[in-house]
Amino acid sequence: MRTHKVIQTRQLTESTFVVRLERNDLNFQTGQFILVGWNGIDRREYSVYSGEHDDYLEVLVREVDGGKVSAKLKKLKAGETVQVDGPFGFFKFSPDVYKVKKFLFVATGTGISPFHSFVRTHGGMEYRLVHGVRLAEEAYDHHDFEAKRITLCTSGEMKGDFYGRVSAYLAENEIDKDTNCFLCGNSVMIYEVFDILTAKGIPVSNILSEVYF
Ligand SMILES: Cc1cc2nc3c(=O)[nH]c(=O)nc-3n(C[C@H](O)[C@H](O)[C@H](O)COP(=O)(O)OP(=O)(O)OC[C@H]3O[C@@H](n4cnc5c(N)ncnc54)[C@H](O)[C@@H]3O)c2cc1C
Repeated sequence: MRTHKVIQTRQLTESTFVVRLERNDLNFQTGQFILVGWNGIDRREYSVYSGEHDDYLEVLVREVDGGKVSAKLKKLKAGETVQVDGPFGFFKFSPDVYKVKKFLFVATGTGISPFHSFVRTHGGMEYRLVHGVRLAEEAYDHHDFEAKRITLCTSGEMKGDFYGRVSAYLAENEIDKDTNCFLCGNSVMIYEVFDILTAKGIPVSNILSEVYF
């Protein structure tokens, strides 16, 4: 475990924010997560939001109602410190290992974080990102993705590209069978989308998922 100094926190909505930490030579592969928090049990998993080549380390965090660590992270100020452990996880993404470089990224809420790291690290990829949120204001840093490659699904208002959940959007749309699919976010979405993708003929070996809760 190492101590990392906070460079800044950037508020994206009332409940969601990006914490930028000093990198301190921490190496990770885009898609992996780190443990962030304080000694003892006040540590939680967060996907790395920044790219492999950035000279800082970022995480995207939503303050959960009644949540212990996310509420403490929200109050962090520049110059304060947190403990970081890792990286961990097999939700890794390196385009070189795929014969067919066609990618579908499906995220709910802050589950967009590893995909943000992917696009910061690997430019010029053929990907489609389907991001499910309740309100359009939760389109976290969408300007960092190519506009033509992103579909915002809003379930709480008709302000996105699609009104409804990501599962409804994917059920209605064609997906090539050789697409490499990455799913990240809440477990309900991941189970639903997994069933939709396999029913469309996508092999299980082409689907990788990261469950947040
Ligand atoms: C591999 C992995 C990567 C993760 N990456 C991220 C990330 O990049 N960004 C991020 O914001 N979170 C991420 N999470 C979730 C994060 O680890 C914490 O669970 C979350 O911040 C809540 O911690 P807490 O201490 O505030 O809440 P706690 O005090 O631990 O829990 C409070 C309650 O909230 C529920 N809960 C936990 N997470 C959520 C959620 N997202 N939405 C609604 N309810 C929830 C818990 O089940 C519990 O009932 C990730 C989880 C995993 C397993």
